[in-house]
Amino acid sequence: MAVEVIKSNCIGCGACVQACPFDALDLVDGIAVVDPEKCTDCGVCVGVCPARALHLEESKCSPNSKEQSCNVKIKEKQVDNSEISKYKGVWVYIEHSYGDIADVSYELLGIGRKLADDLGVKLAGILLGSDVKDKTKDIFEYGADQVYLVDDPVLKDYRTEAYSHCVESLVDKYKPEIMLMGATTQGRDLAGYVATKLQTGLTADCTELAIEQESRLLLQTRPAFGGNVMATIVCKESRPQMSTVRPRVMPMPEKRPGNKGEVIEEKNTLQEDDIATKILEIVSEGGGLVYLDRADIIVSGGKGVGSKENFKILQDLADVLGGTVGASRAAVEAGWMEQSRQVGQTGTTVRPKIYFALGISGAIQHLVGMQTSDVIVAINNDPDATIFNVANYGIVGDLKKIVPELTKELKKRLQ
Ligand code: FAD
Repeated sequence: MAVEVIKSNCIGCGACVQACPFDALDLVDGIAVVDPEKCTDCGVCVGVCPARALHLEESKCSPNSKEQSCNVKIKEKQVDNSEISKYKGVWVYIEHSYGDIADVSYELLGIGRKLADDLGVKLAGILLGSDVKDKTKDIFEYGADQVYLVDDPVLKDYRTEAYSHCVESLVDKYKPEIMLMGATTQGRDLAGYVATKLQTGLTADCTELAIEQESRLLLQTRPAFGGNVMATIVCKESRPQMSTVRPRVMPMPEKRPGNKGEVIEEKNTLQEDDIATKILEIVSEGGGLVYLDRADIIVSGGKGVGSKENFKILQDLADVLGGTVGASRAAVEAGWMEQSRQVGQTGTTVRPKIYFALGISGAIQHLVGMQTSDVIVAINNDPDATIFNVANYGIVGDLKKIVPELTKELKKRLQ
């Protein structure tokens, strides 16, 4: 039996055509069509389809089956259920810089709330730091029922061994079944360390999280094999089930002013002398940092921009709009833009209000990093470029002529 196309869902983006390893899919009149002779039911296309328009029979992969967008399911051996059942609750590690909470932590509270409700358990934030008790208010207002707080001068600066020690002690005592962290520099560092110490599984850079109702397992979906396959990973054997999620992958939940919860205070048992790492000085990198994931307007350029010098016209447009310049990997590899500006699977995931894709073809590895932007504007001289399938507004033509005109016009109107 071949993959079935749900025509009413198909947006004609061509992601399945690109991903199919057997050349079994084509676009006919903007709708995916499967060649049953070539289709092997591998399910790769089901995983990459952003519109859930492809279906495999229930026992394999389908948009409605419990193995949603699953092509590879990493199985583990059977577990001792009595031990596993002692673990309850969903935890979110609250990352902050001297009390300034990272947006990704709020985004994780949003998805954490859904997971906790599906499991019928509490959602808790873990807040570590010095003089941060007043921050619990925000954590409750973004949906947490509880905050586990360790407030101690020793925790003023983030240090892996000190923070990891606190998280491990909390897990040993309170036994959460799920723990989520941001896939940030700090989150990646802490999550790997904690997971190793607790000898549990960790799935990095998840793009979807859901609960399998019968087993109560966390289904952790992330791109694999260069983005052509979406793998759903389960951690059957150990607890907590740990995942990291990049900033802007999950939507920001609505703040519920006045929402209150329970603060559970715990003591830090590690003394300064027990910690090998000492912070001698913190040196700011200055103004050169790029925070693509926080930008509301991004003007991104690809190989079609043609040269490093041509990126100036993108910068001019970004300046008029108060935006930030981004780039495709091809533009980064050409040396036209620095890697910190790369959008996509191996760059930054962004979710701006407006995303300009200029001279970008729309490869799946780029799309996964920007397709949830509120509005996408594409300029490309190829009318068949895949980027137009996800764009809200598309202009076919030479970006080198169109972008300066657009900038000029916007300048007039915005003055
Ligand atoms: P191209 O595909 O070469 O497209 C250039 C486009 O510009 C074409 O559509 C062309 O029609 C158009 N064009 C040319 N001249 C003009 C003009 N004058 N005016 C208007 N349009 C014009 N890519 C990413 O972007 N981010 C990632 O994070 C990423 N991660 C990857 C990870 C893996 C494991 C792999 C295998 C690949 C990854 N890639 C990533 C690369 C990705 O597959 C594509 O190769 C890349 O996105 C292509 O970049 P591009 O669209 O700029 O270039």
